[in-house]
Amino acid sequence: MAPGAARLVTNAVPSGPMPIESPGGEAAAPPVFQVRGLSKVYRTGEVEVHALRGIDLEVRRGEFIVLLGASGSGKSTLLNILGGLDVPSSGTVRFGERDLSAAGEAELTRYRREHVGFVFQFYNLIPSLTVRENIALVTDIVSDPMPIDESLGLVALMPRRDHFPSQLSGGEQQRVAIARAIVKRPEVLLCDEPTGALDYETGKLVLDVIARINRELGTTAIVITHNAAIAGMADRVVRLGDGRILSIESNPHKLSPSELKW
Ligand code: ADP
Ligand code: MG
Repeated sequence: MAPGAARLVTNAVPSGPMPIESPGGEAAAPPVFQVRGLSKVYRTGEVEVHALRGIDLEVRRGEFIVLLGASGSGKSTLLNILGGLDVPSSGTVRFGERDLSAAGEAELTRYRREHVGFVFQFYNLIPSLTVRENIALVTDIVSDPMPIDESLGLVALMPRRDHFPSQLSGGEQQRVAIARAIVKRPEVLLCDEPTGALDYETGKLVLDVIARINRELGTTAIVITHNAAIAGMADRVVRLGDGRILSIESNPHKLSPSELKW
């Protein structure tokens, strides 16, 4: 491998040259996620909720997937299981070669820390820490973080690095949350309604940032939304209903957020 290429490899390579070792070409590269017969039942006392009822899905390296569905259809449950925050009741979930469905607590923690960036509707920044310090909480515990300033550059917030969250707008706080999610160079970025608390224009800016991370770093991105207009940005749109996949559609031409009408 050429010197300097190491960084690209850390970040998944969606469109570059094929790995030399790969005997069967493209088909030999395992998907980032392989989900088979995934079900999740929540039991609370007497009540059983079937949140997922047999999901089969493969997510390819570098893909941008939008997950759509009515409230309660199982979107967050699926994302949380992919992210190692929750475990299935039955079925298997593989992350590359790793079987997440067989992993214990400690392995899931390691998996989340090293490989997954999360973005939620609420930004979960620590109010008493500056932007930089919020991100440093992550760079202190992972093995190969990018420089904090590089992560802030990707979300266009360098000038705000010494500000506190209360000095930032909602959209800016969400961009800090995105910088915090990607500073560890995760293979996957999982976003659960990242624009749910934002107005229309601000939401577009935030989605633009997520699309840029996907494009420039090759980070596989899965974004939950109930705004169907966002679907135009995705490589594939997965629709969930009542714990099942209703449809999976590919977009031949991805739109940028500024081209979306919603
Ligand atoms: P969505 O994100 O599409 O709105 P969720 O995945 O959050 O849907 O929820 C799917 C179903 O599972 C819902 O009926 C919800 O009430 C239920 N559910 C989710 N999490 C839990 C939990 N921890 N305990 C019990 N029921 C849950
Ligand atoms: Mg949800």
